[in-house]
Amino acid sequence: MHHRTLAAPSLPFPQRPALACLSWLMVGALCLGWPQPAQARSTPAEKSEPKVEKAEKAEKPSSDKTATQARDDGKEEGAAENLGVLRQRLAQRLATRPDPAPAPSGKAETRAETKAEPRASKRAEPKSHGGELHWAYEGEGGPEHWGDLKPEYRLCASGKRQSPIDIRDGIRVDLEKIQFDYQPSGFAVLDNGHTIQVNLAPGNSLQVMGRRYELLQFHFHRPSEERINGRQFDMVAHLVHKDADGRLAVVAVLLERGRDQPLVQTVWNNLPLEKGEALPAPGQMDLNQLLPEDRGYYTYMGSLTTPPCSEGVLWMVMRQPVQLSASQLNIFGRLYPMNARPVQAGSGRLIKESQ
Ligand SMILES: [Zn+2]
Repeated sequence: MHHRTLAAPSLPFPQRPALACLSWLMVGALCLGWPQPAQARSTPAEKSEPKVEKAEKAEKPSSDKTATQARDDGKEEGAAENLGVLRQRLAQRLATRPDPAPAPSGKAETRAETKAEPRASKRAEPKSHGGELHWAYEGEGGPEHWGDLKPEYRLCASGKRQSPIDIRDGIRVDLEKIQFDYQPSGFAVLDNGHTIQVNLAPGNSLQVMGRRYELLQFHFHRPSEERINGRQFDMVAHLVHKDADGRLAVVAVLLERGRDQPLVQTVWNNLPLEKGEALPAPGQMDLNQLLPEDRGYYTYMGSLTTPPCSEGVLWMVMRQPVQLSASQLNIFGRLYPMNARPVQAGSGRLIKESQ
């Protein structure tokens, strides 16, 4: 893999140019004009995916870098000339950050859940483009056919650890707390033809079972894909994380009708007018605003809920739903009235639940 090339040897920063730039953003300085929409939007997501991957890997080593360090880096000679380059790269990265990136197997096709399909006709029936049928939530490209659409989607039909599931009969145990380490971050909003997805700048992660997973993106389904004892919720947000070995962990936050949800509103405020183009938003968002007060959760091993349905995904479904308003629900419903995969067989999988 060519993961490390974004570490750009020509740059004067000894470490992590993109994060340094981000840190500056946090102290309100220097990264003026970032991100550059024109630049970012002109980059088709699929083409630039390799670059994105490089960025993720290259930036990992210094995730604990402080804003002070970053500012010091900036004082180095030649830093100013490179700001433009850094801004561009960061904007590109935000604009194209892939979804459930490589699955545990590391195969490229496992990135599909977030892969933008700029020309896919989103709300209409799936259509053939040059003979290829796109996956969808109904019709010929619907969930019951996903496994037949492409060889690399076959797990969607044959997998025995698929998601979503109806969560019931879990064992109640002392589940360790998920340690969320989220902070205000830059973001870009993408309508990828299957959902609304928010790509996050680096710096958000969670720790559980001895592993640290970085948050890549989150997106929505309506209604919720997962059920709790048979009950389906109005919507769900899936927060997709990946650890250094490429393992995926998804936190599901169930959403039900009630009060306004400030973070959801921030996303809706920044909806792009065009599909397939991630729109870098001004300002930042703090994912802590989306988490429920009660951090109890259900956990089980499952899969991506979209083709290629890769397995080996650690699911953590927050038990307490979060509210969003009826009008917020309706806004998403205008775009995606139904984008939930049906529940899959539990097949004897163990489900654990917080006490
Ligand atoms: Zn999802």
